[in-house]
Amino acid sequence: MKLSTTVILILLNLFIFSQSKIDRSNCRDGEDVEYCKTHKMMNKLKNNPSFYKQFLKDQQELKKTEDQISGQSRSGVVYTIPVVFHVLHNGGVENISKDQILDAVAILNRDFRLQNTDANNVQSTFSSMPSDIEVEFKLATKAPNGQCFSGITRTQNALTNDGSSGQAQVAAVTAGNDVYNSSWPGNKYLNIFVVNEAGGAAGYTTNPSNWSSTSMRNGIWILHDYVGSIGTSDNSSSRSLTHEVGHWLNLEHLWGPNNNPGTATSCSSDDGVNDTPRCIGVTACILTSNSCSNDAQDGYWSSDVVDNVENYMEYSYCSKMFTNGQKTRMRSALVSSVGGRNNLWRNNNLISTGTNSDPTVCAVEISVAKDLVCGNDNVQFFDESYNNIVSWNWSFPGGSPSSSNTKDPITSYSSSGNYDVTLQVTDGSGNVMSKTFSSFITVLGSNGNTPPIFEGFENMSSLPNNNWTIDNLSGPGFQVVSSASASGSRSVKLDNSIGTNGSVDELISNTIDLSNSDAASISFKYAFAKRNSSNTDYLQIYASKDCGDSWALRKNIYSSVLATRANTNSSFTPTGSDWKVISISPNTLNNFLVSNFRFKFKFVNGGGNDLFIDDINLSGSVSINDLERTNNLTIQPNPVIDNSVISFYSNSNLTNVTLDLYDAMGRLVISKRVANLNNGDNKIEIPSSALESGWYLIMLKSQEKIISNKFLKK
Ligand SMILES: [Zn+2]
Repeated sequence: MKLSTTVILILLNLFIFSQSKIDRSNCRDGEDVEYCKTHKMMNKLKNNPSFYKQFLKDQQELKKTEDQISGQSRSGVVYTIPVVFHVLHNGGVENISKDQILDAVAILNRDFRLQNTDANNVQSTFSSMPSDIEVEFKLATKAPNGQCFSGITRTQNALTNDGSSGQAQVAAVTAGNDVYNSSWPGNKYLNIFVVNEAGGAAGYTTNPSNWSSTSMRNGIWILHDYVGSIGTSDNSSSRSLTHEVGHWLNLEHLWGPNNNPGTATSCSSDDGVNDTPRCIGVTACILTSNSCSNDAQDGYWSSDVVDNVENYMEYSYCSKMFTNGQKTRMRSALVSSVGGRNNLWRNNNLISTGTNSDPTVCAVEISVAKDLVCGNDNVQFFDESYNNIVSWNWSFPGGSPSSSNTKDPITSYSSSGNYDVTLQVTDGSGNVMSKTFSSFITVLGSNGNTPPIFEGFENMSSLPNNNWTIDNLSGPGFQVVSSASASGSRSVKLDNSIGTNGSVDELISNTIDLSNSDAASISFKYAFAKRNSSNTDYLQIYASKDCGDSWALRKNIYSSVLATRANTNSSFTPTGSDWKVISISPNTLNNFLVSNFRFKFKFVNGGGNDLFIDDINLSGSVSINDLERTNNLTIQPNPVIDNSVISFYSNSNLTNVTLDLYDAMGRLVISKRVANLNNGDNKIEIPSSALESGWYLIMLKSQEKIISNKFLKK
């Protein structure tokens, strides 16, 4: 009962939280994020009297410029804006691809140059009005210190999930990005911050103001899934950035400077643009909307007309145009010194940001979704080289295909091992650059290690290695330690004390071949202490029958039963009785008897002390249907009697030979050291007198090879 009460309380809290945080009236129909919060942000700033004073002065100045240039429907001057996308991520999907960003830039250019074909379909009242703004956007290729880069910076920081302070997110980018760790001035770059949470909004920015001109906060915040039309975004979200750039160039919502679409009083406020009819704003594509009757008031329209719901500064899902009036207002912002906008497109700024001419190649970079894959998996490589790459020459030694001329090719590897990848790129000016990425891909065998597996971590000093992979998505990571062990002198430890609540750590086996087993079971020992009874840590064991592409939960060790000793706040090092044995029975693994079986431990931090794991035992039992001898080992006589011997031929000397016998459940019943063996014919007596009747697996393990066969004891 206590648990369900807690769950209800948590749900209730989430409900109240989301209710108080999201202003539903500011969302587009069907979305649970406020489409834009620019005016809310501006109003917050205006609460500061000195900002407000500056803002009024700036707007006066901008109006003066607008009056000067109004009437220039087609100026012939195209302004180029250097743009930087700062991707703030925490290792999740919000770390969007370069392709998604390139798509977003292409959409901005399409919309601001009126190359969007849907502008031909605006409703008849506005059919002649869609305007070419004559503004273009180019990814910068030079950082403030002159360093060549791709126009994209990436910063890993959990603040991507907390947009309560946009300034804190910018500070995280400045301090932690992978290109240049200082300010990217707002009068030199249009800075676009791609985040996973933007204060409940899909996007926001600020109007031009001398308050923030050279500061980085003079930029645009946008959710990753509102950037471009591909990857994590889609078509219906792809024009949010067009809308925010409109604000950044001093446009207001069509119904006036507020974030309250659908409010009747907005008929008396205006967007400061005469050719956009007065309206109260829509949250969906309602083409018949005619919300205000005072359209003639601004002088452009002689009578009442329908609302321009297809305007980018609306909240409809069918926005596709700016008007000439909006063009004049935006271009006024660009030629004005207010907010430093008139510095952006100046030739010396285009030179210093590397946007003046076609950029040239300066780095070869590649990426993959996973660099640890299984035999015959399709591996897609992505070109991340910059800049202006027009052709590619990939080389995948050991892969099939082993080369490619496409941008983001797919190959696969049939054998286990580490593989180099080489990429040679050519830019638009014919410059060539090449780079080899050594051991870039690790391929696990599609036929894994042969059971039984006994892992005491005695023969390794670090993780990952040939047998184990670790995944510490956000936690401290499993490590081999010699400070504690259930047997021998080593174990693996998760330094959970330094982890954060909810962080996840995984210890993952590499592939194991269970295809010759008719049953398998896993046992292991672990030790764990809570700090106090309210800790919620838990441990799970998963199995995979497709080399780790998908996982099924096989064992859940709940928080309530996880601790193996009394709570302690002190540094915890387990001793004898602190270790507990856990077994996973054969029937839970019945459907996992495949050649590329894997299993993993998943630990979720709930504030407790450290975790230790040791003595992992995977038993693969003998398949009694399979009477074929393996390798060249014969057993005579078979069924085995007390004086049976094994005979085999070896083409090499065998050293450090051990003879191991496993029963049908995979339990090791006899392990015996044998003298070194010479090449040629060998015979060894089977120590079978004490064995019970049944099937057994015999394995001869040596430094050089392992040979095995099965036999029946009568
Ligand atoms: Zn807006």
